Amino acid sequence: MKGSLAAVRQAWRNPAVLRVSVLGATGSIGRNALDLVARTPEAFEVVALTAQNNAEELARLAVAHRARVAAIGDAACYGTLKAALAGSGVKAIASPEGLLAAASEPADCVVAAMVGAAGLAPTLAAVRQGRRVALANKECLVSAGEVFIGEVNRAGAELVPVDSEHSAVFQAIGGNDPECIEQVTLTASGGPFRALGEAELARVTPEAAVRHPTWSMGRKISVDSATLMNKGLELIEAYHLFPVEARQLAVLVHPQSIVHCLVAFRDGSVIAQLANPDMRTPIALALAWPSRMAAPTERLDLLKVGSLTFEPPDETRFPALRLAREALDAGGSAPAVLNAANEVAVEAFLERRLGFLDIARSVEACLDRARATGLVRPMTTVEEVLEVDREARVLARTRLSAYV
Ligand code: NAD
Ligand code: MG
Repeated sequence: MKGSLAAVRQAWRNPAVLRVSVLGATGSIGRNALDLVARTPEAFEVVALTAQNNAEELARLAVAHRARVAAIGDAACYGTLKAALAGSGVKAIASPEGLLAAASEPADCVVAAMVGAAGLAPTLAAVRQGRRVALANKECLVSAGEVFIGEVNRAGAELVPVDSEHSAVFQAIGGNDPECIEQVTLTASGGPFRALGEAELARVTPEAAVRHPTWSMGRKISVDSATLMNKGLELIEAYHLFPVEARQLAVLVHPQSIVHCLVAFRDGSVIAQLANPDMRTPIALALAWPSRMAAPTERLDLLKVGSLTFEPPDETRFPALRLAREALDAGGSAPAVLNAANEVAVEAFLERRLGFLDIARSVEACLDRARATGLVRPMTTVEEVLEVDREARVLARTRLSAYV
């Protein structure tokens, strides 16, 4: 069966105390995961926390949650981390190897909440433990695709999605026979610029792009939501997680962000999952499944919401969705190139080196160039994925000069 559904249905060992690590602990997902853990301290033991360069915040979290290990990716921040942890009993480690060591610390559940394909190696280290990985870091699944799922299956790990739409699909499929699924629809809020015309889109600022109407998230995913690249990455993520073909995946814009997915079956039945937009609901599911833990989210009141509306995505104003679909259809390393080019472009947009509409344009130019130069090719190993990711970033940075 394609997808990791078989793996996620393994019997849950359900220990009295769940040993949990959070990779990307200082981020939006990481802090929400730790918020949940702190509300049920008797159920969790925090093993390792990691961050890239916010050493003081990492140290504060590690002490507050009595973590065993705190790892900082940027080796230059080691001194700050060590000093901040002095006398606390928390072990400080640093560098990219330190992140791998932290991800490999024995734990029952590792929350992978780093941003970007840089999260691939630590997430795979967590996968290789053969336990549960609560996956928020969609970029590593988009980049590594079948190679990633192959590692999950080889390790016998459980992959439970944290992304809200994928958590929703995971629940909606439930115990249904995968053969009977007709269509899986991911919903999209449409982002902050849903109603803007092309001329206005050309002028939007990074500040406006990171102000999401329904979700509170990190800067990169907020920009991805504004371009709809986030939904494109999610289509690819869903393709790898669930037993469906690309043609069975659809996207529907739903500005209220209450319905997170629709799974349609061949008997005409459609199962949706609803919740207020608060990432603590899908994170709680990934931590506790197949049980359910309490999450302090605002309860859904449909009378208060009033109406739920739906519209098709506009792929003319937001071409990123089309680009992602084309990369998925092309297969091999195309999604890794798409992702790397997007990461480079989003960074340039946030640093005001690139206009909003140029994000998708530069990704498309990079994909075209990658096809022409043989960078779009089959991949079978993690090393090949990392090499494509590296080369695609070089290509994207070179191509960017054409748009500034
Ligand atoms: P964020 O920017 O708030 O946090 C990112 C975390 O990763 C931080 O702890 C940071 O220190 C760490 N990090 C940054 N660069 C790193 C690197 N090179 N190596 C290792 N660690 C690094 O991001 P976020 O919004 O929490 O998103 C995290 C992931 O979860 C992303 O892949 C995103 O697409 C996904 N996701 C987020 C949300 C959300 O609501 N925020 C929802 C669905 C999926
Ligand atoms: Mg999502």
